[in-house]
Order: sequence, then C-alpha cells, then structure tokens
Amino acid sequence: MIDLRLKVDPLPIVEPLVLRLCETDRADPSEHDAHLIRRELQHREYEYLGFSVVIHATSDMPLDGDVLMVLPGQASAHRLIRASSQHNTLLVTEQCDQLCVMCSQPPKKHHADLFDQFAIAVRLAPSGAYIGISGGEPLLHKDRLFAFLATAASARRDLRFHILTNAQHFEPSDVSRLDAIGLERVLWGIPLYSSEADLHDHIVGKPGAFQRLEQSLALLMRAGASVELRTVVTQQNWENLRDLANYVVNRTPFVSVWALMQLERMGYGRMNWNRTFRDTSSDFTMIRSAINLAAARGIAVSLFNFPLCSVPEPYRQFAPSTISDWKRKYLDFCDDCSVRAACGGFFEWYSHSEGFSKLGRI
Ligand code: SF4
Repeated sequence: MIDLRLKVDPLPIVEPLVLRLCETDRADPSEHDAHLIRRELQHREYEYLGFSVVIHATSDMPLDGDVLMVLPGQASAHRLIRASSQHNTLLVTEQCDQLCVMCSQPPKKHHADLFDQFAIAVRLAPSGAYIGISGGEPLLHKDRLFAFLATAASARRDLRFHILTNAQHFEPSDVSRLDAIGLERVLWGIPLYSSEADLHDHIVGKPGAFQRLEQSLALLMRAGASVELRTVVTQQNWENLRDLANYVVNRTPFVSVWALMQLERMGYGRMNWNRTFRDTSSDFTMIRSAINLAAARGIAVSLFNFPLCSVPEPYRQFAPSTISDWKRKYLDFCDDCSVRAACGGFFEWYSHSEGFSKLGRI
C-alpha cells in the first residue's frame, strides 16, 4: 500500500502550507516550489523560501513534482498530488447528508475548509492531470466547490475533474455555472442504487433521495453535463439490477457510462459486509442480464472493482482496472496470472476468507 502521508520535521507555520517538491529543473516554476538540496537514504532536505523542509522517505520513493500540504502542528504531510500517479483525489469534506449502507468513508460532523489550499495544489499538478474530487458530499459546499473549479479551470485549461456527488443539491441556477467551468472538463460520478425509489432511499438512508436525484439528473441532462452513473452491487439491490438496467436505458440514456461496482470493505462497507456483499464470482446472472440489456441499447457499461477472474470470460472486456494504485493489492495466487497487468486486483482491506469464493489465476 502506498502511504498518502509523509513524515516531516515540524515546520514553524500557523497556516496550512502547500509545496511542490522539485528535484529537477521545471518548465513551469512556481513560488510554491521547494528545491532538493540533500538526499539521504531515509530522508531528503528541500529549500523553501530560505528555510529547510525535511521529508522522511526512502531514497527510491518518487517525489519529484509531488504536491504536499502540511498543516500547522502536524509532523506529517498530505500527498495531495502524486506526480507519477493517475489516481489523485482531493477529499474536500467529510460531511454528508446521506448514510449509505456500504459507505467506505462514513460522514463526520466537522468540516475543515481547505479549498484555497486545493486551488493551489491543482495549479501545481502535472500537465493534463485528471483529478478526483470526493467526500463526504462535495456539493454540501457548493459555492466553494464551484468557485474552486472556476479558478482551476481559468488557470489550467488542461485539467479535468471527476467529482463524486449524491446529486441532492443541483439547482436550475447551477446550469450557467456548470457551463462556465466547462462541461467537457468535469465528469460527475453519481450513485443510483435501484430503479425503485423506496429501495434507493433505504440504501442511502435518506427519504426522498431518489426523487431529488431524478430532478438533478434531468437538470444535468439539460445542461449537457457528463455523468457516470454508479451502482454498487449489493444483496439489497441484486434482484433489481435488471429493472435498473431498463431504467438506465429508458430514463438516463444520456449518461457517459453506467458503472456496476463491487463493494469496498471499509467503513460501513466493512461493518455491514455480511449483509451487503454479493459474491458475484459464484453467481453473475443478474449482472449478465443488466449488461446485456444496457449494452444492447447503446449504454456504455463498466464493471468497477471486479477482479478479472471473478468475471466470466465474455464479460472481462467490461472490467477495467479501477482500484487506485495506493490501495490496491494482489493475492498469492495472482503471482503467475497471465492477466495480472490488466487486472485491478483487490482493495488493500479485502478479506479473502469473507470474499469471492471462486477465483484463481487465468
Ligand atoms: S488471479 Fe489475481 S491477477 Fe489474476 S485475474 Fe484473479 S485477481 Fe486478477
């Protein structure tokens, strides 16, 4: 597992500090650059505005171009942007107005507003970066989020964003703001768990959520926004998947992709694992039906977080590697697997004794 925090020697700061680590000459120098002056086996020293920044990291860890955030009084730095990775996500809030049964990041009451720091960070990102925004529910802080996106969009035309949202907070007045940010630069990842309002509301723990979601989807469609519908496959919605495919085909044909997702064993997903996880390696029937139906009607379908050997061969084409590099692992039997390079493996916190029953190298 890749650590998203690095130990640092304490810094005399009273405000959060965002730095870019520079170990080579850059074509896009910035006032936020800290330059390498010494490299040892277990730590590196950088110079930033005349003072020393010591990062504890082994000498083989790639850090050139990484963007870090150090908070006052902390002896660790958050790796906001890893320059060598395609999997950079900014957690903009831990607050949420839903309580999903499988949530991997259960909500917290407190919110720390770091949008100003995130705005600096994305300006320092590598060229063409595709940056995830997640929570909690990012749109609980919609004005701050949209201002952040507008700033980022005007400073860096090359950046793209993937934003996870429960779509409970879009309003007609947002259409012009979405347009100003650039419809082509944001893909909205929106969970839809059932074609039945009551079941969706039950899974997300919020009465009326389905109806509000439908309003938002209609609004996003009128705006011309890009939408990735996300359905975590669970015991709760298993029998509904075929009907949900019909719903997607008939009610949301504008979506860029419909992602059927396997469960992440973290947070409520871990707490509720036994009553939520569906072993799709032993029974793929409902997913097969849903894919057949949706794909035949021109919907782009994708399987997220499915190990390739859990998927019947004809459907592996729908299962890209989607688990972020920093939380991905493989098991012993993956060692000699012929498709390992294309397989996304498992979440670091996956427990095989409670997981898929029919796996093995291909
Ligand atoms: S054996 Fe491992 S690498 Fe191969 S398909 Fe299965 S999970 Fe992926």
